[in-house]
Amino acid sequence: MPRKSKLEDRLAMKKEHAWDLLPAREKASAGALATAYRKFLDEAKTEREAVLAIKRYAEAKGFLPLGPGTPKTPGTRLHYVWKNKCIVLAVLGKEPPSKGVSVVATHIDSPRLDLKQNPLFEESETKIALLRTHYYGGIKKYQWATIPLALHGKVVLRDGREVDINIGEGPDDPVFTIEDVAPHLFRQSQAKRHLDEGFKGEELHAILATLPTQKDRKAKCRSKLAALDLLNTAYGMTEADFSSAELELVPAGRSRDVGLDRSLVMGYGQDDRVCAFAALDAACALGTPRRTAVALFFDKEEIGSEGNTGARSRLLVSFIGRMLELQEGEHRESALRGALESSEALSGDTTSALDPVFKDVHEPQNAARLGFGVVVTKFTGSGGKGGSSDASAEFTGKIRRMLDKRKIPWQTAELGKVDEGGGGTIAKFIAEHGLDVIDLGPCVLSLHAPMELASKADLLCAQRAYRAFMEGA
Ligand code: MN
Ligand code: MN
Repeated sequence: MPRKSKLEDRLAMKKEHAWDLLPAREKASAGALATAYRKFLDEAKTEREAVLAIKRYAEAKGFLPLGPGTPKTPGTRLHYVWKNKCIVLAVLGKEPPSKGVSVVATHIDSPRLDLKQNPLFEESETKIALLRTHYYGGIKKYQWATIPLALHGKVVLRDGREVDINIGEGPDDPVFTIEDVAPHLFRQSQAKRHLDEGFKGEELHAILATLPTQKDRKAKCRSKLAALDLLNTAYGMTEADFSSAELELVPAGRSRDVGLDRSLVMGYGQDDRVCAFAALDAACALGTPRRTAVALFFDKEEIGSEGNTGARSRLLVSFIGRMLELQEGEHRESALRGALESSEALSGDTTSALDPVFKDVHEPQNAARLGFGVVVTKFTGSGGKGGSSDASAEFTGKIRRMLDKRKIPWQTAELGKVDEGGGGTIAKFIAEHGLDVIDLGPCVLSLHAPMELASKADLLCAQRAYRAFMEGA
């Protein structure tokens, strides 16, 4: 091998695997972090469950609910739950929040199959009771058939009582599933379809029950009735109660290590719970930061950040207002504006990793590589950067210096080939309020599939990057 010229060393950009860059001491901590992460993934399969899991994890590290008795001394750790679907963690800094805060914002909703508000029916020939679904977020629908699905969510009964449902995660729990046609019989029909239509939205029906009730042999749909009877016995539900329910079918079962070297995690909802967990663990590792550190966990990113729990809501603004009230005893409009405009944010989200099989969708020089460190994405969007919050060179430079100073492996990337597709993050909704913001998070393979793949090395890099940012390094 000829020795690399000094000029190349000095001038050319290198792409190196995080495992070749991380010191041994840090590599040794990657396993424990991934173990805690996998536990979090298994507990937090919906936005509501993620809020509870984040709250538990943070409370074990001394975070207390924001309230009238919250001290305003630097180093105070607090949390704030919003509508049971978002949560905010904060560690009060030495400087007042009017001088700006450091925000790491991630999302805790993931693609899934929601039950319709009137989901239950019995197919007339087979007498199989099925659940109609309406998918949530961008999925490849065919991937969601023939896998075990668990039902998670909340039902508000006619009398206002709330019932939490979680069926399919225990080792002896039943699961639900969407069946598919046999390969012996699909040549003239399903095989001729465009892959995107392998399953159509109105074909994603989950099997609920197949035994006809014996209690009412004259009833019309006896399998459906038997299922309703079981739901009534267990939860006090009737069919009309589905109308005021939020029930989500998600892949059942636990996350797994992948590879002989156990280098990857396979699990549901890693977009974006890998960033959420990294931000959570980073916030818990903080001492007293210079600026107040805020970790925000949003809902509804996968459907456009809409609604009062999405990143387009007032949550960020009103929370910073609350920090002003707490630490400075005032909440004037000008102080709030000043705080927002001098704040900085990382939008913690995942991007698609360079696919070793379907390489064509990427432009490899600007594609993220699994295990090559946390990905800094200056812009997202589609059709000529449309819909992107393009981070400034100045702020990008600042983040780059932070990563280099802390020796955190990182890479720069964009989502795919120009005009191949695209996507956005919550960065632009944060930028609207005047904060400097850039996307920073691990890349993922099988993005939006029922089970996604992330690298433990990248998780460690993300945790370190969020921590460095919130510490004000
Ligand atoms: Mn995401
Ligand atoms: Mn996504």
